[in-house]
Amino acid sequence: MNQQLSSSAAALAQDSVNNKRLQAFIASLATFGGRADGGVSRETLTDIDLASRRYLIDQARALGCEVMVDDCANLFFRRPGQRNDLPAVLTGSHGDTQPVGGKLDGAYGVVAGLEVIAALNDAGINTLRPIEVVAWTNEEGSRFGPGAMGSSAFVDPSCLTGYLDAVDQNKVRFSEALQAALDSTPDVPRCAMQRPMSACVELHIEQGPVLERAGIPLGVVTGIQAVRWFSVTCHGSMAHAGTTPMDERRDAMAAAVALAQKLYDFAAAETANQLRLTLGRWQVTPNSVNTIPGRVDFTVDMRCLTDSVLDRFEAFLRGLAAESNNSVSLERFFQRAPTHFPRPMLDLIQIAAERACTHAGLPAPMTITSGAFHDAMYLADHCPTAMIFVPSIKGISHNAAEATDPRDLLLGVQALAYTVTDLANQEP
Ligand SMILES: [Zn+2]
Repeated sequence: MNQQLSSSAAALAQDSVNNKRLQAFIASLATFGGRADGGVSRETLTDIDLASRRYLIDQARALGCEVMVDDCANLFFRRPGQRNDLPAVLTGSHGDTQPVGGKLDGAYGVVAGLEVIAALNDAGINTLRPIEVVAWTNEEGSRFGPGAMGSSAFVDPSCLTGYLDAVDQNKVRFSEALQAALDSTPDVPRCAMQRPMSACVELHIEQGPVLERAGIPLGVVTGIQAVRWFSVTCHGSMAHAGTTPMDERRDAMAAAVALAQKLYDFAAAETANQLRLTLGRWQVTPNSVNTIPGRVDFTVDMRCLTDSVLDRFEAFLRGLAAESNNSVSLERFFQRAPTHFPRPMLDLIQIAAERACTHAGLPAPMTITSGAFHDAMYLADHCPTAMIFVPSIKGISHNAAEATDPRDLLLGVQALAYTVTDLANQEP
């Protein structure tokens, strides 16, 4: 399809998004696990999650989609194109929530994908490539760790074996919950993991305050921060709190606090680089009111969009451990390089978002980076990928009060519709 035809189809798709249907769809999905306080409790692969999956399957079939499920219970809703031999354009997000979450984190991206399909149907647009909407399994990681199991296993199926033994609080294994989910959809054919996709776009709420503070209704997400996790152990000697003079102590907590302060000072000097530091988990041994701590373990979570800043921070941390005469040991137990979404994807989303904003008489979109992980981070290893953000009121997320202005929710889906349609009309 030539460029002009392709962009007019994209514009028509954008203009065919139905706001009333979209808002009703968001509200309907939120009834699965809906709470009196307005939030949603729909942890992955619970009975409530399975019921919501059945609802999505029914909705997608009513829109004329084929439904498929893969070995990690990721659900795919496929709208055929003219050339079904070509890899599809993928959109969607995750259907699960935190133990107490909101209506939008994840769910918005899934509903948005189905609304795009409904808009294409209304407009009578037959795209060149098929379009698939996905609902990823266990993005949140709250019931079974780690998070983003579905998307990471889709991209690298060898991960799945490592996830099967994860257990929840009630000692249910992930493998059992997964099997129950697959058993609950005997009518849904199985599809392969790691299938080629031509591109992936995820629409998500920002979950932070940046867009709202700027008064901008749409964000073009340029990338996702790099992260490194360390476990740090400070070794000392347990001794009596009352009888041991201060200058004769080997106090593991004193060492840990001094080390922590140096890390905070380093982070404070790097605020211009948006370095983020969290010392989130602490264990004190023996954790007794009147014994000098013999050992303190804590975790370090460092994040930045610029990997070289994390390199310097890690070197600083390792230097402190090296100077400690073996009283500090550390281990890096997780790391993820920054994700930079490809330029052509960003340019297309910019056009799509700008058109939606202009038509609504609202300020132009801005570029933004994501502080949180998303399924799109894994998909970026698989095919050209990008994300669109809408503002979160007061930046609140992972909370029953999570909300976005309905006007912005509409704009986000309009930008998505344009982007997905344009991608789906691109010649191989
Ligand atoms: Zn999410």
